Amino acid sequence: MQLSRMSTLVASYQQVIDRIHQACDLAQREKHEVALLAVSKTKPADMVEILYQQGQRAFGENYLQDAEQKIQKLSYLTDIEWHFIGPIQSNKTRIIAEHFDWVETLDRKKIAQRLNDQRPASLPPLKVMIQVNISEETQKSGVLTADVTDLAAIIDALPKLELRGLMCIPSATDDQERLAAQFDKMNQLINELNILYPACNQLSMGMSGDLELAIQHHSTQVRIGTDIFGARETAAQ
Ligand SMILES: *Cc1c(COP(=O)(O)O)cnc(C)c1O
Repeated sequence: MQLSRMSTLVASYQQVIDRIHQACDLAQREKHEVALLAVSKTKPADMVEILYQQGQRAFGENYLQDAEQKIQKLSYLTDIEWHFIGPIQSNKTRIIAEHFDWVETLDRKKIAQRLNDQRPASLPPLKVMIQVNISEETQKSGVLTADVTDLAAIIDALPKLELRGLMCIPSATDDQERLAAQFDKMNQLINELNILYPACNQLSMGMSGDLELAIQHHSTQVRIGTDIFGARETAAQ
């Protein structure tokens, strides 16, 4: 990789880490409580390698063809962690079950069943988060808050899935009170689930624009793409 491109990437990555650390200080939380998911979708494998060398382990992908190639290319990095964070079509579950460590966007029983059945016996259970449609907008993916416990019970009964937490994409708004109310509700939900399922303790919420607020409201993972890797090329992506 071109040296200037490489140093820009490392500098942007460091800035995001600094922002997360400042948000932790402000929220009086320990820095290790909040993980960074580096959203590398559409970005080349060599950029992922550079961040890996900086200590980053968790990477988020949405587009399966692009992800599969990258994951194969980087399979020599044994402790790298791939998170699927896109909408899941039922005819694509096999690729996810075979190549990913985490799925953060599980929102249907049928998909849970397929991922369980297609997870290779040689791999540990697939770690999953339930995506919650916390803003209750009809066109959005995710389960409604009232349906979270039902789906959790279904996932818990599947041996090749391990329920680890909840994920959300809140309303696209700058209204801090509205966002805070949604993050608060997510925090309540995870606390309730955690009583039933002790390993279910992760809260994936917070992106570039709202990571400080999310960390204040007990997020354990923020998902950042553009601020680290730069803008993606196609508008649709
Ligand atoms: C793309 C994506 C992100 C990262 O978005 P950026 O605007 O690139 O930081 C986070 N979460 C999900 C679910 C995404 O699809």
